[in-house]
Amino acid sequence: MEEHSQEREKLVFLETFGCQMNDNDSERMLGILKGINFARTDDPCSADLILINTCTVRDKAEQKVYSTLGRYKELKKERPGLIIGVGGCVAQQQGEKLLKRAPHLDIVFGPHNVHKLRELLIEADSGRRVVATRLTETIDCDEYGVSPSASGEKAFVSIMRGCNNFCSYCIVPYTRGREVSRQSADIISEIEAAAAAGVKEVTLLGQNVNSYGTSGGGDVSFPELLKLVCRVEGVKRVRFVTSHPKDIGDELIELFGHEKKLCRHLHLPVQSGSDAILARMGRGYTSGEYFSKIEKIKKLYPEMSITTDIIVGFPGETEADFASTMDLLRKVRFDNIFSFMYSPRPNTKAASFEGQLPLDVRTGRLQVLQEEQKQITIERNRETIGKKMEVFVEGPSRGNPDEMMGRTSCNRIVNFALAAGMSAAPGDIMEVFVTDAYANSLRASAGR
Ligand code: SF4
Repeated sequence: MEEHSQEREKLVFLETFGCQMNDNDSERMLGILKGINFARTDDPCSADLILINTCTVRDKAEQKVYSTLGRYKELKKERPGLIIGVGGCVAQQQGEKLLKRAPHLDIVFGPHNVHKLRELLIEADSGRRVVATRLTETIDCDEYGVSPSASGEKAFVSIMRGCNNFCSYCIVPYTRGREVSRQSADIISEIEAAAAAGVKEVTLLGQNVNSYGTSGGGDVSFPELLKLVCRVEGVKRVRFVTSHPKDIGDELIELFGHEKKLCRHLHLPVQSGSDAILARMGRGYTSGEYFSKIEKIKKLYPEMSITTDIIVGFPGETEADFASTMDLLRKVRFDNIFSFMYSPRPNTKAASFEGQLPLDVRTGRLQVLQEEQKQITIERNRETIGKKMEVFVEGPSRGNPDEMMGRTSCNRIVNFALAAGMSAAPGDIMEVFVTDAYANSLRASAGR
């Protein structure tokens, strides 16, 4: 699309729903668009291109896409040259159907086709409506060729895509395809480039990072990859999401003891504390196996924070199953959880399971779980009072611009005041003294 570089700068309005994989895809879209003279705008009315990067994980995802698209119908009427595109998992699932139902939509593209955005725009510019939802079993060499547009001190780097686990409630293997890993050299050169541009914290992304390199692509194991990332000059902190309990091994657990750059936070989704439910979910571990891994990690690294995902109200979940989840919650004392009420996703096995629970049962259980966890989170946060912690400075505090906000290695947000004469810039790592703790953040002082 060379013609764009000769023209005035064009504007893209991009809305992103869903997970960090989608955030990363959106950054890749912005990276491609930057190369063809697009800048980002917060105002859809002034945009030449509107992109919606969609997610199927939340309930009624499809309806949300149509209602979001509906908002732009008038804009398209007023300015027929406006191009509207839908990407992400809903685009992958619905394909042509989206074009049929939304006549003002120009482009539909799935997660495996993000790198083709430039070509898709050329087609749309010439008046064709296009669908690109081909799922590929290998990673095209140019797929991650364009650096994400993210600027600043933190970068998210996809190390693989897709998933082979087919948990019975999940749509990801259908929308993002089978698991494929990128070559370590490509990942490292992307991180080196990011570090040279000022990035100091890197988060490696994948649906199941612990199986990196085990099924298609990838030339080293995940712990080996982490070691290589930790060696990159300029990178001060390394994080990764998401881990699968069945794949987390001793080599990774031991690595936390050697690699100082590796953040002391592990997000390990358990989903349920009931073995019967875990089996119906197809998760591949029991509650006891999960707990013994957590115990081992906590024993080795007491400062490590452990977070998880939990689904309540899965089909067939009895009061006793739910009680097992509550027991696990109390035993592990997670630092935080992401909790969801089960709702069926089209084309998943669990959507046709017997024993779908009524909404009031599911909402009631979610409430009980969240109340209990809120207390545990506050207690866990309060355990840090009086401790010295290192924070990665992210910028001014949201609530008080005279203070700074940073994040601990164990992923807690800290708002802190600087002593007179002190300064801190984003990307700095500094020691703070924790003075108070709340449900979502800590309070601290620096230099006193
Ligand atoms: S591990 Fe299970 S829940 Fe996670 S992406 Fe794969 S299929 Fe979905």
